[in-house]
Amino acid sequence: MKPTISIIAPIYNEQDCLHELYRRIREVMHSAKEDWELVLVNDGSKDRSYEIIRELAAADPEHVRPVIFARNFGHQIAVTAGMEFSRGDAVVIIDADLQDPPELILEMIAKWREGYQVVYAVRTEREGESWFKLFTAKLFYRIVYKITDVDIPLDTGDFRLLDRKVVDTMNAMHERHRFLRGMSSWVGFKQVGVEYKRAARFAGETKYPIKKMLKFALDAITSFSYFPLQVATYLGFIFAAISVIGVITVVVMRLSGSQEFLGQATTLVAVLIFSSVQLICLGILGEYIGRLYDEVKGRPLYIVSETPDDFAEQHLTNSIHEE
Ligand code: UDP
Ligand code: MG
Repeated sequence: MKPTISIIAPIYNEQDCLHELYRRIREVMHSAKEDWELVLVNDGSKDRSYEIIRELAAADPEHVRPVIFARNFGHQIAVTAGMEFSRGDAVVIIDADLQDPPELILEMIAKWREGYQVVYAVRTEREGESWFKLFTAKLFYRIVYKITDVDIPLDTGDFRLLDRKVVDTMNAMHERHRFLRGMSSWVGFKQVGVEYKRAARFAGETKYPIKKMLKFALDAITSFSYFPLQVATYLGFIFAAISVIGVITVVVMRLSGSQEFLGQATTLVAVLIFSSVQLICLGILGEYIGRLYDEVKGRPLYIVSETPDDFAEQHLTNSIHEE
C-alpha cells in the first residue's frame, strides 16, 4: 500500500542511532495515525549500520524501506536517492542522529494539511556543538544568503517536509553538486517555516569534517551564484586602476628627479601580488569548469547495490521458507 508520509534518513556510520531513530519515528507516526514509510539510505557505512538496517527491515517490512549504496556518495546524494525511492504524498527529510526531533514532524504535517508545500524547520538554538561549528555554520548561512540568487531561509538545514509535487520537481533536476535546501527554495511553491531547538547528537560524532564542510559550502555557492566569477572581474578592474595610478606616479616622480622606486623590491612585490590574484582567479574558474566537466560526463548520481524491492523479495522468500 502507498504510504502518505515518507521519512528519509541518510545513514553514514550511525550504528548507535538507528534503533532509537526507528523507535522515535514509529512512536511519532503512530500518534499521527498516518500511513508511513521510513526510507533508510545507507551511504556506504563502514560500521554495523547495514546489518542494523537489515534487521529493522526484517522486523518491520511494512514500514522500513532500505536503499543500499555501493559506496559513500555523500549526504546530499543519499537524500536525493531517498527522494527518488520514496512513495508518500509528502516527504520528510531528517538526519539520522536525532539532532532533528522527529516530534516536529507532527507540526510539519499540520502545516502541510493547511496547504503549504514546503515546510522547513528553522533552528533557533543548537545544543552540543562546538563553537567552531556554530561559528562556521552561522557565517556559511549568512554568506550563502548574501551572494546567491535564491532566497534561502537563514538557519535552516535539510530537515523539512516536501509535498509530492515539490519532490517530483526536484527529482527532475539532475544537477550533481546538489544543495538540497537551495533547490527546495528555488522551486518556489507555498513555503513556511516552523521553529525548533536543534538537539545534540544522540550518539557518535559528526560526519562532516572540515573538508566535507568546505566542499558543501562550495557546492552551495557555485550551484546558486556566479558571484565568485564576478569577483575575478572586479579584482581585474581594481588592480587595473591601481596600476594606472602606479604608472603615472612613477613616471612623474622620475621626471621630477626623485630617487624612489629604483630597487628590485618594488617590482618583486608587484609581480607577487598580481600573480597571486591571477592564480586565485584561475582557481575560481577551475572550480566552475570542474563542475561543468562533472555535469557533462553525465554519470549516475549514485549506484545502488540493493533496492527496497530486493529486500521485499528476500522477505517474501524467507516467509515462504518458514511456511
Ligand atoms: N551523512 C551521510 N553521508 C555522509 C555524511 C553524512 O549520509 O557522507 C548523514 C549522516 O549519517 C547524518 C546526516 O548525513 O544522518 C548529517 O550528518 P551529521 O549529523 O554528521 O552532520 P552535522 O549534523 O554534524 O552537520
Ligand atoms: Mg548531525
